[in-house]
Amino acid sequence: MTDRSRPLLLQNPGSFVFRTVGIISTPFKQKFGIPRQSQSLSEAKGIIKFAHDINPLNACRGLDEFSHLWISFIFHENIDSGWKDTVRPPRLGGNQKVGVFASRSTFRPNPIGLSVVKNLGLNEHNELMVEGLDLLDQTPIIDIKPYIAYADSIVDSHCGYADEPPTTEMAVDYSDDAWVQLQNTNKHYPEFKALLENILSQDPRPAYKKKSIDDKIYTVLLFNYDVKWQVRENRNVVIEIITLASL
Ligand code: SAH
Repeated sequence: MTDRSRPLLLQNPGSFVFRTVGIISTPFKQKFGIPRQSQSLSEAKGIIKFAHDINPLNACRGLDEFSHLWISFIFHENIDSGWKDTVRPPRLGGNQKVGVFASRSTFRPNPIGLSVVKNLGLNEHNELMVEGLDLLDQTPIIDIKPYIAYADSIVDSHCGYADEPPTTEMAVDYSDDAWVQLQNTNKHYPEFKALLENILSQDPRPAYKKKSIDDKIYTVLLFNYDVKWQVRENRNVVIEIITLASL
């Protein structure tokens, strides 16, 4: 049983241990292809399953009156990767460096992420449903807070190199095979097509690939599908959608 009088356990002066409050399930089975900020994908839904010692009916009481939430989470796939004090944000074409604290890089001194999501409320299993995600499947959640517009939304703010949303809008085509396979996804995940097209139209390739001829076949893993696609004449062509037994 967790000692609730001490939510943070001080190990050494200046070091803390946080606990997981829940684990989120999302359609994103790998990092590549996940949008770089949360609100850009309304089709991306997730479900937070709470830790066994948290009673969601108590801990989330009153939360249904808030349309949006902040979720804090651990970039758990990057924990062993280390960090640098400067990074090259994709928004600057991957060339220019800024300080890690002037970026939303996932490689940070503490691997903590923060996303605004839409609150869809508790389901019949007392799991919290959210929408508009940029989180990998099975990401540990360390906190949930209501989004409070008067405090959190600042109309005259300046956002440096990220003042405008990304503008890439690439067309998405399907091979004949992929088009047939796509119909199958619709039976299981009606939002699959919209989600895939939203991801591909934002051109998730690394910045340096966008500048040269690129005949690489890329893969995104969404739900239990392995989607293969390639850029041809500045359009994204989905070549194949393979159903995986399980992920
Ligand atoms: N809105 C958050 C996250 C921005 S970065 C913040 O600003 O803190 C979003 C990227 O995080 C995604 O493109 C994905 O590649 C990466 N990501 C999401 N979940 C992750 C996880 N559990 N471990 C490592 N990287 C993750």
